Amino acid sequence: MRVRATHAAGVLVLAAALGWLEEAHASTQVRGVQATSRRLIADSLTRSETIRRLARTIEASDVIVYVDLRRDMASHVVGSMRFVASTTTHRVVRIALNQDYAWPALIAFLGHELQHACELAAARGVNSAERVRAYYRQFGIRVDRDAYDSREAQAITRRVEAELRGTTSEEERLALLRHGSVAR
Ligand SMILES: [Zn+2]
Repeated sequence: MRVRATHAAGVLVLAAALGWLEEAHASTQVRGVQATSRRLIADSLTRSETIRRLARTIEASDVIVYVDLRRDMASHVVGSMRFVASTTTHRVVRIALNQDYAWPALIAFLGHELQHACELAAARGVNSAERVRAYYRQFGIRVDRDAYDSREAQAITRRVEAELRGTTSEEERLALLRHGSVAR
């Protein structure tokens, strides 16, 4: 009897947790490294249909994405994605975002970098930093000495920015004007 009661309580807690996950559109394969990046991911999933679609694609793939908000990036770079490791089951990448940029720019560039993660997800055999470099040398566009981009990711930045226009507060708009939103 006691065991049954405990079990029932456990099920209730689980149901509550699942409800919370659905409400927050939570993704288990897009993970924030720190509290702020977790808040950025949650806010992005709430405000952008495009980012929800990208997260679903990643969720159905073998790619795990760590999102890291940093203060030590070159001032002209908003975001970047790097290959971290291959495990027996997953490919792990890290998206770094420059915390000096305004929140809406960070959301747009989270979308941009998640598009790169989706490109990697679709390229099954690309399972090392060297192969990622070779992949972008072949299919990407070169934007710096050792930096590549894709037209699709650039289009995602603009699409998410357009989606945000409807939900951007006056305070965020002013912050964007101050910092600018530099595409790369
Ligand atoms: Zn890019």
